[in-house]
Amino acid sequence: MSAKTKEQLNELYRNIREISILRSCESLLDWDERTYMPRNASEHRGNQMALLAGIAHERFVSPRIGELIGNLTNDGVKLADDTPDAANVREIKRVYEKAIKVPKSLVEELSRTIVLSQGAWQEARAKSDFNSFQTWMEKVVSLKRQVAEAVGYRKTPYDALLDDFEPGVTTEIITGVFAGLRNELVELIARIKDSGKAPDRGIIARNFAIERQEQFGKEAASAIGFDFASGRLDVTVHPFCTGIGPTDVRITTRYDENHFPQAFFGILHEAGHGIYEQGLPKEHYGIPCGDSVSLGIHESQSRMWENLVGRSRPFWQYFFPRAQAIFPEPLKGVSLEQFYFAVNDVRPSFIRVEADEATYNLHILLRFEIESAFFNGDLQIGDVPGIWRERFQKYFGITPKNDAAGCLQDVHWSAGLIGYFPTYTLGNLYAAQFFAKAKSDLGNIEQSFAAGDFKGLLGWLRENIHKHGQRYRAEELVKRVTSQPLSHKPLMEYLNGKFGELYGI
Ligand code: ZN
Repeated sequence: MSAKTKEQLNELYRNIREISILRSCESLLDWDERTYMPRNASEHRGNQMALLAGIAHERFVSPRIGELIGNLTNDGVKLADDTPDAANVREIKRVYEKAIKVPKSLVEELSRTIVLSQGAWQEARAKSDFNSFQTWMEKVVSLKRQVAEAVGYRKTPYDALLDDFEPGVTTEIITGVFAGLRNELVELIARIKDSGKAPDRGIIARNFAIERQEQFGKEAASAIGFDFASGRLDVTVHPFCTGIGPTDVRITTRYDENHFPQAFFGILHEAGHGIYEQGLPKEHYGIPCGDSVSLGIHESQSRMWENLVGRSRPFWQYFFPRAQAIFPEPLKGVSLEQFYFAVNDVRPSFIRVEADEATYNLHILLRFEIESAFFNGDLQIGDVPGIWRERFQKYFGITPKNDAAGCLQDVHWSAGLIGYFPTYTLGNLYAAQFFAKAKSDLGNIEQSFAAGDFKGLLGWLRENIHKHGQRYRAEELVKRVTSQPLSHKPLMEYLNGKFGELYGI
């Protein structure tokens, strides 16, 4: 690499790093808004956030950044190379080109529309009346289509929207993988229903004191590898994890005194996101090789710790005696097996965020089918409630009684987050595929889990996934790590094995 190329790379990195630091200030303000901020502070907070966002955006779309990217790609850095510098320039270029292609007027109209459409969605959901939301949804979809047209896409405008959350993944890839998954899931869920077996769910709905839930949740999060010296846990309404900086990762949860799984598995989930953030290479902070790959890969880390580890029998072989010591009253006379079954209850339900591990993905497949159909002309917005009920019955064997329990339950569409839903299921697919490989590489990790030792898996994730940052796109990372392309098979093998045994099917 010539001295000039080196110099230009350094200038580009310095600029991008400063923008990342500005954005991390926004993240900290956002965390505060969702945890401790006094209610009356929201207007001032809005001004603070808008100013910071504006400064960061202006600095990013500056002609100098474009010039540096142009010089570097013409001379010195080959984007196809397998080096951190090539990956950094490739990713900065991708985001930069998107940012300059969308006209400012469209960005502004979209953000104005989204504020109003979320208000309309809240009202429509409260009244369970899709009709009053329909025109807003049409507006949002039409603006998102304009964004897709501005940035360009491979086959369908929906590809451009997916790219915001899962770079490189296309409608075609997702359609193929999801189709296999759908058939096998519908069949598994029907077999579970026909088994006639069900756990005693009352066990986990007894009274679990909140301060003890917090103590136990923190103990488990630490045990799996979340570093509380570089992070913290607080209370919020809609739990999230945010990486403020390389040694400052905030996770949040909400407690329900009469429902143990909500906070406990929520904490494991957010700790999984946090462990990923804490494991990104600090020397690359602020540039793509120090950043997470995609929402799907992020979700694979949270789901792995929450479900494949946290809802496993070996995990509870270690933690159940601890749970009984911390919650002697509600868990008196409860056996490990009863508890393990209760936290793995599978039953079709209407609300995605309350769904179990097996039915969850069907909720996502339904949303993907509907939202991708907006963009290939197969579906009018007015037909959403009808198609929702019809497919819900087909996949789950039950029909929601109204739109609030159906197509109006999620905030995503009103917030313009179209192309986001598939990343939840991609996360589950990646998690199962990575976990199967980790098990074959590490030998008997279950025995370690039963002894409360999670270092083997943590080290494997650090080495195979976390340390790369965005060096590889999700699709390539999966292939490199597991030697296989993305497939629904590892997830189905895991679900069939686990629930086959639990339900005796
Ligand atoms: Zn998550």
